[in-house]
Amino acid sequence: MNKIRVTKNFEFEMAHALHNYDGLCRNLHGHTYKLSVTVIGNTILDEDSKKLGMVLDFGLLKTIVKQNIVDIYDHSVLLSDKEDTEYFEKEKMLFKRTHIVDFQPTAENMVIHFAKTLKALLPENIKLFSIKLHETTNSYVEWYEEDQ
Ligand SMILES: [Zn+2]
Repeated sequence: MNKIRVTKNFEFEMAHALHNYDGLCRNLHGHTYKLSVTVIGNTILDEDSKKLGMVLDFGLLKTIVKQNIVDIYDHSVLLSDKEDTEYFEKEKMLFKRTHIVDFQPTAENMVIHFAKTLKALLPENIKLFSIKLHETTNSYVEWYEEDQ
């Protein structure tokens, strides 16, 4: 068997604020997030398959990540449910694309959340290998299945 890792890169703009944090990130601010999703599987050996020689179609991985992560979080605001969320609900024009989550919206917690989402959606025989999320050019977090 030929185990191969397949990666797609994505980018999205998102604002967040870290609840009760003792630094500047307590304030609402934004990032251009750079996301890399890597899956692992065996190459398809069936000569009759339209996907011969692939682990999975790059296009399928793109669709899964785009529909379930990028399209949801791009140009949105991610906030902890510990914030005073009434304000955001009242200011609907400004905060239409707001996600109130039950976790502190750090890059670390975002990759944990993304891993859970993607693991439920990947085709059988394809395993999530890792997720890398750049919050800035110099700062990123990584989630690896083998670390869990
Ligand atoms: Zn930030």
